[in-house]
Amino acid sequence: MKGISMSKSVITKYENISVFSGKPTQCTHHCVFGNGMRQLADNYGLTIPLTNKEHNLSSKGTIYQIHGNPPAEKLSKMLGQVAFEKEYYRKLVCGKNDVDPAREEFRKIFGKSYL
Ligand SMILES: [Zn+2]
Repeated sequence: MKGISMSKSVITKYENISVFSGKPTQCTHHCVFGNGMRQLADNYGLTIPLTNKEHNLSSKGTIYQIHGNPPAEKLSKMLGQVAFEKEYYRKLVCGKNDVDPAREEFRKIFGKSYL
């Protein structure tokens, strides 16, 4: 799983709408960040589309933003790790194609996908 080029998100295939609100994407959040982690997040597709307000711009101090919101920052990093681990095994099982049987199984059991 080495890579130096930017990868599309492995978390959502709907990169043009915010994962939170469904509004048009204004920015990309890197699920792991700080100390060079941002580039690694790009390399492995650990990114989610957001609006500026949901990310950090023009919303300092609100409960909606990820940055500056410690529980949201921690959940973001946990999501990044889970996404990486899941993608690692998906590629072992499915190869490099875009098939994601786990996503469809989740949808079947829980009735919807949150991603
Ligand atoms: Zn961010």
